[in-house]
Amino acid sequence: MSTTLTIQPRPIDPSVDHEIQAIVSGAGSGSTCNTDLAAGPWDFDTRPGYGPGASMGDVIPTGSPRQGMLPQAYRDASDEELDARIRRAKETLGDRVVVLGHFYQREEVVRHADYVGDSFQLANAALEHPDAEAIVFCGVHFMAETADLLSQPEQAVILPNLAAGCSMADMADIDQVEECWEQLEELYGDMDAPDADGLVPVVPVTYMNSSAAIKGFVGRHGGIVCTSSNARTVLEWAFARGRRVLFFPDQHLGRNTAKAMGVPLAQMPMWNPTKPLGGSDEQTLADARVILWHGFCSVHRRFTVDQIDKARAEHPGVRVIVHPECPMAVVDAADEAGSTDYIRKAIAAATEPTTFAIGTEINLVQRLAAQYPQHEIFCLDPVVCPCSTMYRIHPGYLAWVLEGLVAGDTLNRITVPASDADPARVALERMLAAKPSGSAA
Ligand code: SF4
Repeated sequence: MSTTLTIQPRPIDPSVDHEIQAIVSGAGSGSTCNTDLAAGPWDFDTRPGYGPGASMGDVIPTGSPRQGMLPQAYRDASDEELDARIRRAKETLGDRVVVLGHFYQREEVVRHADYVGDSFQLANAALEHPDAEAIVFCGVHFMAETADLLSQPEQAVILPNLAAGCSMADMADIDQVEECWEQLEELYGDMDAPDADGLVPVVPVTYMNSSAAIKGFVGRHGGIVCTSSNARTVLEWAFARGRRVLFFPDQHLGRNTAKAMGVPLAQMPMWNPTKPLGGSDEQTLADARVILWHGFCSVHRRFTVDQIDKARAEHPGVRVIVHPECPMAVVDAADEAGSTDYIRKAIAAATEPTTFAIGTEINLVQRLAAQYPQHEIFCLDPVVCPCSTMYRIHPGYLAWVLEGLVAGDTLNRITVPASDADPARVALERMLAAKPSGSAA
């Protein structure tokens, strides 16, 4: 007689917000990086800074967008009331609106999204709805800008909380990038002039996680955009056209990708915009293959090799997967590294019950743990510390912008000026046309 083994699903609450509230009130175990996380984001809207969470120690650029105070009715509403109001507004709006939710958004927001994905998947999802009047992007500022670049001119892209920026994207400031380019031009000569091998001195490459101004800069200077999924293909594209690559804003994605392609670390100097020649000497820059901008993601910088060692000691056989925005030592120590989509697919594809230790944002990890109860899935970082700016999108803001649309008001519209939008689209189109080496044209 054969017996069928059934795996009992573990009841896991996918809400990071519930966990934070429980820890801060003393009803739950564990710790958070900041107890202010339990407050409403409106407590921080009028203050400078990124707010509590992983980026709270980062320096916010002067003039970063601030969010005006959320009306009292939304601040006072219970979770249940906000949930019902969002549902009602969405029902009333029907096809007039598309709600996009990034993987790192809180559960209470994601459950209302028509699409859930990474920034580029979501911008593409919006393309499928050219007749929608509004695209509500529950993510951060550069994502709403990208959606605006790719959507129809008459469509309004809405960011529910204007203070939801991205500390990494902010680290590549357009004035500093222009200044860097001028210094490199003085060193290398005419940046448009190919050498005997047909290669220009530098091809700029920007990660999707950058402002539209940076994407526009890249497009104007023969460069290209990349995502964490296609960074290698994009670097191959750039090396086919240039002697070197200037990669921004994320030094870790640039370093991890170029290292995997065989570029020696000595040929990857870092460019610190506060120092002359970025802190390097002329010879180092002459020999460079990839110049890495001094940027990082404070969420992924929290992961350490010690955490991986601990996970392996406590969970023999654990499969460790980290995001390539993590520091090089962490990527090297992990079993695998890949984008959020890679992580999601790797877990979905596991046929045997498996223990996964994941190095990416807690909201995604917790949601995957709830979605795949046959596996044990946990975040490498034991401290609950979400992305500060993703966390600024509370259901209260989503209800506010949706009810605004019902009332005929387009609140928090994000628009990219044509001077940046046109070259930024060129850089995005180059990315879409880039093919992995060895693939058919
Ligand atoms: S997780 Fe990192 S890169 Fe993503 S929005 Fe937050 S700070 Fe920016």
